[in-house]
Amino acid sequence: MSTRNLSILRAARVMSMVPGQEPIRDAAIVHDGRFIVQIGPWTELRARFRGPVEDLGGATLCPGVFNSHTHLEMCHLLGKTVRGQGFTSWIKSLVANPMYDMDDAEVAAQCRRIRRLGTAHVADISTKQAPRIAGVLDESGLFFVAFREMIFFSPPPDEQDFVPDGEFANGVLSCAGHAPYSTHPETLRRAKRACAARGLPHSIHLAENEEESRILMGERIEFVEVLERANIPMTGFRPPRVSPVAYALDLGLLDPDTLAVHCVTVSDEDIDILRRTGTNVCLCPRSNDYIGEGRAPWEKLRAAGVNLCLGTDGLASNHDLDVWNELAFLKERFVDELSLEDGLALLTRNPARAFRAENRLGTLEPGKAARWSVVPENVLALFEA
Ligand SMILES: [Zn+2]
Repeated sequence: MSTRNLSILRAARVMSMVPGQEPIRDAAIVHDGRFIVQIGPWTELRARFRGPVEDLGGATLCPGVFNSHTHLEMCHLLGKTVRGQGFTSWIKSLVANPMYDMDDAEVAAQCRRIRRLGTAHVADISTKQAPRIAGVLDESGLFFVAFREMIFFSPPPDEQDFVPDGEFANGVLSCAGHAPYSTHPETLRRAKRACAARGLPHSIHLAENEEESRILMGERIEFVEVLERANIPMTGFRPPRVSPVAYALDLGLLDPDTLAVHCVTVSDEDIDILRRTGTNVCLCPRSNDYIGEGRAPWEKLRAAGVNLCLGTDGLASNHDLDVWNELAFLKERFVDELSLEDGLALLTRNPARAFRAENRLGTLEPGKAARWSVVPENVLALFEA
């Protein structure tokens, strides 16, 4: 037997999220602080392993959860934007703030808070300070992908300049495109190619709202004037006159290493493109609601077999960074059947697949990282009412 210092965690129920594996009742997880050594029934593991016991009583445990989309750079904007008035009003109120005055102490406090809530992995998007965010995330002990976001219509940089340099213990730097309506098509293409060349995940906001679809169809709506007033002329943009998803497909952005965020205004054809290309989709239900954009066709996306994840988006369009609140919001409004296992998949094994983090996260199994979450009582109550 190992001579490592082992500890034993006991809980009423453990959902390993290994496909096909039933929840373990009166369960134990044996770990060495970094890795899971064994998982199984309490009586069996108590007889086989020695070590201090932490008893979580009636708790239900699942793998450490993912927040698949946020903007930590904007933590200082909590409560500073308008709610429920649509995207154009929201953007106006956003750009009226000092958007990039990142508050490192607040970002670190938010990271500590979500780690206490069982978050194990964060996918963060930042425009100006991805290496700085990566440093804070690394310090907090969260696993992460810190995306540097490419935005605007300025001439596209060379491909080698997209992903910033930096070595971190718990995560990687990568690169994201902002959105089809805000970013030069060649920049979007090169950003994806830079990620692909390095085997990195890629991300883009896609099909978030009606405004985006209308701009792509060539309409000159108020939103375009807002962009111009914010000094974002759309140089180099020729309206493709197709949907955002079809445009992203044409640009070569969609594959199993891309996370398309929002996908609110997707048609059945768009959903089929996402399915065929194996593109991962991150739903941000409370952010869409906060801004007043409606909601994605969650049920259709799931029925099509798209790999779905959940993210809070940033504090400029949400109340907190707690993905448990995101899942509760979704469950309360989900029209089709959604089991607890289905719901937890959005926070565990689905994003682990999307971010290629399955070697250490996504399920509770020997050899994976010693990260788990207690499923909150209010979430259990919604699923098991
Ligand atoms: Zn976002």
